[in-house]
Amino acid sequence: METAVVWFRDDLRLTDNPTLTAAIEAADEVVPVVVVDPRRRGDTRYGPPKLGSHRARFRLESVRDLRESIRARGGELFVREGEPATVVSELAEEVGASAVYAQTKPTTEERADTEAVRAALPDEITFHGHWTHTLYHPEDLPTPVEGIDDTFTPWRHEVEDDTPIRDPIDPPESIRTPELEPGDVPTLADLGLEEPPDDDRAVLAFEGGETAGKRRVEAYIWERDRLRTYKQTRNGLLGADYSSKFSPWLAAGCLSPRWIYREVRRYERERVANEDTYWLVFELLWRDFFQFQFAKHGGAFFTETGIRDVEKRWRRDRERFRRWADGETGVPFVDANMRELERTGYLSNRGRQNVASFLVDALEVDWRWGAAHFETHLVDYDVASNWGNWAYQAGVGNDSRDGHFDVLWQADRYDPDAEYVTTWLPALEGLPPEYAHRPWRLEADERTEYGLELGVDYPRPMIDVEARFEELDGG
Ligand SMILES: Cc1cc2nc3c(=O)[nH]c(=O)nc-3n(C[C@H](O)[C@H](O)[C@H](O)COP(=O)(O)OP(=O)(O)OC[C@H]3O[C@@H](n4cnc5c(N)ncnc54)[C@H](O)[C@@H]3O)c2cc1C
Repeated sequence: METAVVWFRDDLRLTDNPTLTAAIEAADEVVPVVVVDPRRRGDTRYGPPKLGSHRARFRLESVRDLRESIRARGGELFVREGEPATVVSELAEEVGASAVYAQTKPTTEERADTEAVRAALPDEITFHGHWTHTLYHPEDLPTPVEGIDDTFTPWRHEVEDDTPIRDPIDPPESIRTPELEPGDVPTLADLGLEEPPDDDRAVLAFEGGETAGKRRVEAYIWERDRLRTYKQTRNGLLGADYSSKFSPWLAAGCLSPRWIYREVRRYERERVANEDTYWLVFELLWRDFFQFQFAKHGGAFFTETGIRDVEKRWRRDRERFRRWADGETGVPFVDANMRELERTGYLSNRGRQNVASFLVDALEVDWRWGAAHFETHLVDYDVASNWGNWAYQAGVGNDSRDGHFDVLWQADRYDPDAEYVTTWLPALEGLPPEYAHRPWRLEADERTEYGLELGVDYPRPMIDVEARFEELDGG
């Protein structure tokens, strides 16, 4: 009787889960386990905690959903608390397992955990690592990851030319597990966290789990038919459907990118294939790109000078950082985005680019502080996507150009009626859009007319932002 432990990590799903499928094929019985690791909710080295309540809630919901799905197939999902090396090796010995199966990821702490589990296993228990979170499998890449291009476009062309995307694997019909104490899925309170705020301005009520993730795909692609306009709407700021919002489910592995890809192809066959439908796949390629970049460069991504060794002068000014993080810069487009992030755990891609650029370009604050703040709050936090995009924005990562975002220009372009900023900053309601984006331009009598007192109802700008952008523009 062969038994295999399946250690679930960022792959909280049954559909297209090659790790689970391989274990079920090889063993008579499997022991699926989720390890709740206290180190994952400690503080980052830059201060903010690693795990905030939005993502924590999403993860716990995802684990509960996985447990339901495994139970519906006759098995059990075991939940244990501790460090993976101890928990997984002890569990494997307890059940007399011959093998441990687990997802592998390229980022530093995840790699260290993989190695620690592998090292903790006695010789007679084999470890099988499976790379399962990207569209392309690294073994299928035309150039091995160590040698891939650091620039997105040539890399994309190379893979798009002739790299196959493997078909997603169907979920197992039944899962046989031994009789063991299941263990409770912790509550947020058990993790020392409070319930996140429920704000009806949130783009979506993100609910964790494969079931909810598939529902979102069904709604976005099929019911609301939004894929046909994705590229045109993806720079939006308000509402559920300007972009797919698949990211939290992809990050926790509730959805597999290959399964999403198959849905896109089906949509293209059954409804329409156009630039917009392609563009969703294009964005998934960015996601892949960062994963493979981390496989190539490893820990260099987390250093101040990044993978390209770019020396820049960074300020380590706590007050500057705090005002940015709390959405109190006095620049409405930045503050609205920062408040949305804090209240909901989500931010549009346009918003992320703008607030990141404001921190690193306009305020010159250490980009890693910003990345750590996102790590706490994002419901879709993914190590490679987050730190890779931040490094890019800071000019120390891939493809980096020395450009910056002029957040005032961006606000006029993407929020012409100031609907977004007034949603998140109600104090600015009623102002003409130009002033809603630049309240410092109001004359004293206009401030009285609109009932806005700067420094009381809304902060004065922390820097002379118009002069700063002129300076950055070389003016
Ligand atoms: C500073 C910064 C930090 C970011 N941090 C994260 C993060 O921690 N986790 C994360 O998933 N994305 C991150 N992104 C990328 C992007 O903003 C989000 O993936 C996207 O906004 C999620 O919304 P969506 O699912 O509706 O995206 P869509 O526009 O619908 O895109 C579809 C999918 O493509 C992928 N994708 C899209 N853009 C990118 C990108 N630039 N890089 C990598 N993958 C992408 C995501 O998986 C996304 O779900 C970050 C971007 C910036 C500028």
